[in-house]
Amino acid sequence: MTAKRPLIAVLTGAGISTDSGIPDYRGPNGLWQRDPPAQRLVTIGPYLADPEVRRQAWLMRRDAGALAAEPNAGHLALVELERSGLPVRVLTQNVDGLHQRAGTSARKVFELHGTAREVECVRCHAVGPMAEALERVAAGDPDPACRDCDGVLKPRTVMFGQPLDPVVLQQADAVAKACDLFIAVGTSLQVYPVAALPQIALESGARLIVVNGEPTPFDEAADEVVREPISTALPALVRRLVAEHS
Ligand code: ZN
Repeated sequence: MTAKRPLIAVLTGAGISTDSGIPDYRGPNGLWQRDPPAQRLVTIGPYLADPEVRRQAWLMRRDAGALAAEPNAGHLALVELERSGLPVRVLTQNVDGLHQRAGTSARKVFELHGTAREVECVRCHAVGPMAEALERVAAGDPDPACRDCDGVLKPRTVMFGQPLDPVVLQQADAVAKACDLFIAVGTSLQVYPVAALPQIALESGARLIVVNGEPTPFDEAADEVVREPISTALPALVRRLVAEHS
């Protein structure tokens, strides 16, 4: 009889994408918190109410160039983890889609804050590619509307003032409950409800590994804390896990 292969849950935050040139927007020390006028551009109330906010938001998305970002060694390490045959689920606070771009199976990625690679209509909920909306902005439309119903388009992200998708959150809770090992990577673990996930994992008997440059509230409860840069720490951790379980 072979030993049961552990289910590994990996929670990723902004820290895993900074090496891909994507800054921390949303964290406790992220750009939005430090720049309240910019935060209005990603807050649902002003965004829906004020066409000028939307015009600025589209320009910001155009200039940020996030769609062109490439995955880095941290994302690729998680692809290796999946390819090793170990059961893995990725819970991410990031909206950049870089786990899927790197090669992690889309069905194994749970995007807690949605995705900036797609837009949705707030009225009829039609979904389309962000790239196409940005093409319309580049072609001179300052606030592209839904082609079906003329409703307001927004990124398919969770904006400030919006709740997390309860279905995705429930799926993430279930993964945290079921996993044997929970790895938190590049996240401050300070913002709820996401910060509840490692707690759920611990209460369900999972081991916890924290990989983050700064201290987190879970460091003391963790079995292991790794402070090295994610692009080197995560590949090393994955090699070790694969070696332990093969
Ligand atoms: Zn619509």
